[in-house]
Amino acid sequence: MTPQGRGMGGGGGAGRGQGMGRGKGGGRGMGPGGNCVCPNCGERVPHERGIPCFDVKCPKCGSAMTRE
Ligand SMILES: [Zn+2]
Repeated sequence: MTPQGRGMGGGGGAGRGQGMGRGKGGGRGMGPGGNCVCPNCGERVPHERGIPCFDVKCPKCGSAMTRE
């Protein structure tokens, strides 16, 4: 006698979708280390896709940021 019928075998259905809720963009993620850092004062800001860090000015001292 094989004990069969314990619910559904496996159970790989149900929770699909609604996983990673990325707002916009999506696509490939460069990993979680998306920050620009100020070489002058060390301020960090989240790097925005499409905007190179050296185009971002440090909110604190106004220097050009660099990729962390
Ligand atoms: Zn700075």
